[in-house]
Amino acid sequence: MNVSAKQIEKQRYENNKLAKRLRREVGQAIADFNMIEDGDKVMVCLSGGKDSFGLLDILLYLKEKAPIDFDVVAVNLDQKQPGFPADVLPNYLKNLGVPFHIENEDTYSIVKRVIPEGKTTCSLCSRLRRGVLYRVAGELGATKIALGHHRDDILATLFLNMFFAAKLKTMPPKLVSDDGCNVVIRPLAYCREKDLEAWAGVREFPIIPCNLCGSQPNLQRQQVKQMLVEWEKRFPGRIETMFRSLANVVPSHLMDPRLFDFAGLKPSGRPDPDGDRAFDPEELADGSIIPLEFKALHG
Ligand code: SF4
Repeated sequence: MNVSAKQIEKQRYENNKLAKRLRREVGQAIADFNMIEDGDKVMVCLSGGKDSFGLLDILLYLKEKAPIDFDVVAVNLDQKQPGFPADVLPNYLKNLGVPFHIENEDTYSIVKRVIPEGKTTCSLCSRLRRGVLYRVAGELGATKIALGHHRDDILATLFLNMFFAAKLKTMPPKLVSDDGCNVVIRPLAYCREKDLEAWAGVREFPIIPCNLCGSQPNLQRQQVKQMLVEWEKRFPGRIETMFRSLANVVPSHLMDPRLFDFAGLKPSGRPDPDGDRAFDPEELADGSIIPLEFKALHG
């Protein structure tokens, strides 16, 4: 075997591993949150970015393998941004043989008319888009709306909420929409962004650039993402650990009296092996210790 044949073989092996990992993670998220049920019609929102292409691609694969029966319909909202290549998605979807719908709605002009020059357009634009997509879901008889947010979006949103809204919340993997009529799911919730990027390359998705609207990029989100990337470089594994903490919440050890009855807390009089050893430093699974403040150790 010459070198290039070896390289091709290695690449094929890596691609295979990547495909298996992404499909396993999506399948696991769907199962953990009961995202898709027998008979569902899942509307996949396709923006033309790498994440929504990946979402559609993986869901179509799982649809063939899953023990349950569900339908997929791809939906793109053509917001009439200048330069939007309107034929790219229909051609791709026709070739794929998947049912699809393109909704034409000139939200771009509305946003340009209403928002003064130089101000951020994203919040009105996404509000308008959301309204259109909810309506289309109803018209198509979709029972679930699937969005392409991934693990890194979820973590970045957690920090943005902490930094700018003083809230401990993020994008959940499954929720009922604000109009009360739709269930929104995020099947990529466990997938890493860099895997989706790599998958987009492997599958050669015809990516549509996301800067057609001419909006300024969301600087705060970019800065938070950069912060996470730097942490991960310095402390490998930190992102995964932080992400897992979202599914391991201890309300009695936070400070929200709506989630835990601190006011009514009384000694039970019985020892509890899993109880809190408030005066001991906490031992982690790997045997290391979370250091306490001197004050906590010595009163
Ligand atoms: S980046 Fe452009 S298309 Fe995307 S939400 Fe903002 S204004 Fe809308």
